[in-house]
Amino acid sequence: MPLQSRAARASLLPTRCHDRDGDTVIDNISRREVLGAVIGAAAASAVSAQAHVKPVGFAVVGLGKLALGQIIPGFRNCRSAHLTALVSGHPDKANRIAAEHNVSAGSVYNYANFDRIAADPTIDVVYIVLPNFMHAEYAIRAMNAGKHVLCEKPMASTVADAEAMIAAAKSTNRKLMIAYRCQYEPLNLHAMRLLRRNALGRPRLVVTNMGRQSDLSDPSDAWRLDMQKSGGGALADMGIYGINGSRYLLNEEPLEVRARARTNRADPRFQTVEDLITWEFKFPSGAVSINCTSFDQAGTMAWEVYGEVGKMTADPGCFYNGNRLTVTGVRGEDEPKIVEIDQFAREMDWMADIVRGRAPLISPGEEGLQDMRLIHAILESVAKDGAPVRTDWDYRRAHDPAAV
Ligand code: NDP
Repeated sequence: MPLQSRAARASLLPTRCHDRDGDTVIDNISRREVLGAVIGAAAASAVSAQAHVKPVGFAVVGLGKLALGQIIPGFRNCRSAHLTALVSGHPDKANRIAAEHNVSAGSVYNYANFDRIAADPTIDVVYIVLPNFMHAEYAIRAMNAGKHVLCEKPMASTVADAEAMIAAAKSTNRKLMIAYRCQYEPLNLHAMRLLRRNALGRPRLVVTNMGRQSDLSDPSDAWRLDMQKSGGGALADMGIYGINGSRYLLNEEPLEVRARARTNRADPRFQTVEDLITWEFKFPSGAVSINCTSFDQAGTMAWEVYGEVGKMTADPGCFYNGNRLTVTGVRGEDEPKIVEIDQFAREMDWMADIVRGRAPLISPGEEGLQDMRLIHAILESVAKDGAPVRTDWDYRRAHDPAAV
């Protein structure tokens, strides 16, 4: 899903940073904090560069758009994660990628001989980058082979599959991380930290809009437009950023959802999945989030937060790069400087640190399951023409990403 933003084309980093009032940029938001984030990131990489430890070996399963465009190139920017194996249904492609990335020919697998990874000591982690309906099968087979799993979002295509993955992680005592890259991304982390300090006053409203155009003739979209394979079309693919984003921005879980869909069934793309879905989550604090997703709109991954005295806009907020945050408080507007990183390298290194016992598992299977259950609840409300569906099933995240 290579989305290109206006900001990405114009400039990789937002550069403007007001400094009219000593350290204070706007009400409650200090320049020192922004610089702190920058210095903190630099210090972290300096410390890690000094640590000479064995890299953690990763097998990438499924050599499609994301794996070839982002993940495999991302290993170049990793300090701990190392590409050691590939799994693909296309041996020519896999062997070519293996040769380009110094992966041993003996560590190229296919879906039939996948379980042989158990005997491959170069693999510590299996990174599942397959269509959603295949996540559970390969994650469970990988854990049964003794490997830890990093799995792309959405965790699975059904709630039952997500539960089976969590059960497998428990029974095999393996780590299972869901690749929610925005929970590790500096702009989103900066926003979370401002919100935790009530920098906008009490948060009242989150608005998210995540969508793009889809193309049935593109094999990478064909499975996304198939309900059985994707588990929810645009909602499972893009809307999940709004679901997850509402939750991590507000740091609470929704009590209830109401949702409606606008779908033209005459459009061949939308035979089994909905097109445009809007939904509203009600949160325990009294905040609400209003969300939209569609596979028939201009590409966007934007969110906004409105508090009692300030607001924040991230547009784009969840792209691979070029994200841009604007914070408006009682004294004016600011675009904090945020260090841009390779988000996939960050996630893979985080997973490597989890395996080494050096980092907490902040997006475990339970976090993926929560979104799967919320996707299910949104679709239930759509089927009931917007009737409220309770979502207060007592999930509490183990770690606030902003606090780690
Ligand atoms: P693609 O369709 O481009 O690639 C999937 C790959 O899976 C294929 O190329 C193929 O690789 C393999 N595959 C095996 N069996 C099948 C099958 N029956 N049908 C289709 N493919 C099959 O998908 P993406 O790379 O775009 O997405 C993969 C996953 O990554 C999804 O879960 C998606 O949600 C997630 N994703 C996450 C993003 C993020 O920002 N975190 C962004 C984009 C996607 P091979 O030929 O090697 O066997």
